[in-house]
Amino acid sequence: MLDAVWSGGRLFTKEHLIKNTGKGANVPPTILWAALQDREWTGKPHITDLLKGPRQKYLEITNDYSVTVDSVIKSLYGKAMHGIFDSSPNDDCWTEVEIDYLDVLMRFDAIYYHNNGELTLCDNKILGSYAIAKYLGLKKEYTPALDEYGNQQIYKTGQKKGQTVMTSRLTRDPDPADQYDFHLQLNAYRVAMNDILANRIGLYPQFKNIAGMEVSHLKLFIIPRDGNLREAISRGIDEPFYYLDVPVMADELVREEITTRRDTLLHALETEEMPRLCTPREAWDGNKCVSYCPVSNVCKAHGDNTYLT
Ligand code: SF4
Repeated sequence: MLDAVWSGGRLFTKEHLIKNTGKGANVPPTILWAALQDREWTGKPHITDLLKGPRQKYLEITNDYSVTVDSVIKSLYGKAMHGIFDSSPNDDCWTEVEIDYLDVLMRFDAIYYHNNGELTLCDNKILGSYAIAKYLGLKKEYTPALDEYGNQQIYKTGQKKGQTVMTSRLTRDPDPADQYDFHLQLNAYRVAMNDILANRIGLYPQFKNIAGMEVSHLKLFIIPRDGNLREAISRGIDEPFYYLDVPVMADELVREEITTRRDTLLHALETEEMPRLCTPREAWDGNKCVSYCPVSNVCKAHGDNTYLT
């Protein structure tokens, strides 16, 4: 479990912070305290646990590990925003919904009832422009610059003399693999809500007005964390927010994915057997292993991670 945070070259635990004010840290003690807040493992996975590779989550549960304050500071934006998202304009809008389905805990931001009888489920995210551009499939494509007669332009002076002048334009071609986790997450909420509305309304009386209805629309509301910065704009992220439709996946596929991931994690915990390595997609082609995974040292010690040689 997360038990310590690095700040200003020092390691701070919760006990340490309770006893003193975090002297020597390079951030206020309130930020250290917020960085140390982590969901406790109760024996039931949360859907977001299942979106990580099973090895990462297994090692996070079975080991005490630390994070740097720099690595978690950005995730605090999202946590802080939940206070804003948790307000509802009327009785046909439910926010910060917590449910349980197939022994997996879920919490999503909102579900709305429209007068036309449709239910829309929405999740809000605050993401860096890199992640948004990846999700949207925005890429820079370089082609030779042409003059007014259609001839390729060549640098005539300077260090690039003789080289072709290139021009860039953004293309949009989303890769389903880059969208899969968000789509699975929202569809898991949808399938779970539909099961509650059809079969388990007694356990969730707050939804009795919409019992028997089905969630038909999924939306992702994304705020760029670094919007307006030059780097974000160069990636094509030039909007203050994105309110996107998420496609509906087959119910059976969603259930299969959730239960397989749940069982892989629970089996590893029960048998204390190290789960498989995270897939290249889960490990961001090794980038997560090298720079972002908080349990990479334990994973490396197991000796089978070729990204960590
Ligand atoms: S180091 Fe890589 S493979 Fe190992 S748990 Fe972390 S993300 Fe997964």
